[in-house]
Amino acid sequence: MDQTEIKTPRIRNFEKVARHKGEQHEGIFYDDSDVFKALEAIAYSLRNRGDAREGGRGDSKQGGRWDAQMEARADSWIDKIAAAQLPDGYLNTYFTLRGLDKRWTDMSMHEDYNGGHLIEAGVAYYDATGKRKLLDVAIRWANHFDSLFGPGKRDWVTGHQELELALVKLYRTTRQDKYLKLAHWLLDERGHRLAKGYTWTDWKDTAYAQDLVPIKDQKRITGHAVRAMYMYTGAADVAKYAGDSGYLDAMKTVWSDVVDRNMYITGGIGSSGSNEGFSTDYDLPNEQAYCETCASVGMVFWNQRMNSLTGEGQYIDVLEKSLYNGALDGLSLTGDHFFYGNPLASTGNYGRREWFGTACCPANIARLVASLGNYIYAKSASDIWVNLFVGSNTTIPMGSTDVALQMKTDYPWSGRVTLVTQPERKIRYALHIRIPGWARGFASPGGLYQYADADVQPFTITVNGRPAGYTLEKGYAVIDRSWKRGDRVELNLPMDIKRVEASAQVKADRGRVALQRGPLIYCVEGADNSGQAWNILLPDAAAFSPVRDTILSEQVVALKGTLPTVTVSSDGYSVRTEQRSVTAIPYYTWCNRGNDEMQVWLPRKITDIKIDY
Ligand SMILES: [Zn+2]
Repeated sequence: MDQTEIKTPRIRNFEKVARHKGEQHEGIFYDDSDVFKALEAIAYSLRNRGDAREGGRGDSKQGGRWDAQMEARADSWIDKIAAAQLPDGYLNTYFTLRGLDKRWTDMSMHEDYNGGHLIEAGVAYYDATGKRKLLDVAIRWANHFDSLFGPGKRDWVTGHQELELALVKLYRTTRQDKYLKLAHWLLDERGHRLAKGYTWTDWKDTAYAQDLVPIKDQKRITGHAVRAMYMYTGAADVAKYAGDSGYLDAMKTVWSDVVDRNMYITGGIGSSGSNEGFSTDYDLPNEQAYCETCASVGMVFWNQRMNSLTGEGQYIDVLEKSLYNGALDGLSLTGDHFFYGNPLASTGNYGRREWFGTACCPANIARLVASLGNYIYAKSASDIWVNLFVGSNTTIPMGSTDVALQMKTDYPWSGRVTLVTQPERKIRYALHIRIPGWARGFASPGGLYQYADADVQPFTITVNGRPAGYTLEKGYAVIDRSWKRGDRVELNLPMDIKRVEASAQVKADRGRVALQRGPLIYCVEGADNSGQAWNILLPDAAAFSPVRDTILSEQVVALKGTLPTVTVSSDGYSVRTEQRSVTAIPYYTWCNRGNDEMQVWLPRKITDIKIDY
């Protein structure tokens, strides 16, 4: 919050607009969006803590004071934002301070992107607190946009998608069809730029913003990774609420292109820094991996929507991979330092930072972590899906019966998950428990990554201590029965340590192996290994054991093994190897003890030690 309000001029820009004294805008034209994303994260935190108090957990007095302070501060920001809105609904500090004559003239200037984040914040803050002020600002902004753009009005092909998914959220909150129609129209505007004779027709720029062909004709993932993720998330939402299946068919193909050929083992995407996005198939360099934190956050959004549309567990498998590895890595264990890019190897010259000039990532990971509760369960009229394994209490209404569910687990450190169901009265529903692909022999859907060892330990499910009858459907174990108070389901997932290989097409990973336990990808870091990570070999016969360990104050399971490490003689003419104890740690915990050497993919043999491609 201090970065937004005190250390950077983001809130001050809103104050300047309201003062009308001709002051200069400070910062970048998309900085307003960071304020809105921070407000969204605050809203989720307030809701989580409110839920926790209702459940009777935690120090409610202390928490209450802290919440009240945070909410008061958020309210003061909202007052400033509202005061900066123009009478016609326009809200953008950059153009208002720099010259309103330029507004809505350049589709690459993020005016609608900022507006989308305003809407997301307004909806989240209203949901959490019941306060309408920011939502009303967002509605006025959306009506302003709607008055200018749409069928029979002006065209608009945004340079940075985001508004589409936000408008669907606004539709769900207000139930006004016009916002859903506007989102649908924005998506259908894409891919016709060349035909419509726009001046911004440079092929690269057009591919960059996924504007080469209409979304329904898209088959390949292209361009800027975050733009792509936000667009497909919006398209999935429109497919769901407007019943337009054309998007879904296209997205299934594009999704396969991502996970089969263009995704890191961490679930990170967008390997290239030059376009913050996708390059060519299988081009997945490790040290140079871009893998923006926001892109992994976007993978979580999109995969949740794909799961919701299809009921397929494989989308949650990818969501989980991106969440626990590529996205979580973006946030330091202390919560106050960040990665913008998330490489899979480092020679020690890469580090976390307190903030960035372009500060999209910190607020994005903050709002994701604060909203994690939204990803655990899904429901329909007669079914409950358990998607993620997170210790939690919730109540799910099934018709007229409330079903309380308590999940106990220390996943991902252990594979044991206990679910106690407490329906108000006996009720029949189908409980779908996700059995992750990684627990069924698949390191990733589509086979871009595969286990080196074929054997897979079985998972087990019991109900009230007896083996459960279930069917395996779409990646879920389905238990369809009558449930009564206190029924107890126990899932045990195999947590053996797996060695993973990449497809031979991935040049950067040839001759290399990575370590995975449960959903977590591991790395070796210098801090645990005499300051070195690039001299460690991982032979096929090497054995590891899981060991409880602590990194800063984070309790983790580390992997320990005895491995050959390579030392070059002082004259540089010979090498020797010696067996040493080596520790591998969860990838998301690296670079919390200073900048250091790190590798995810370890060479099998001396001849596989090489500098990254
Ligand atoms: Zn970012």
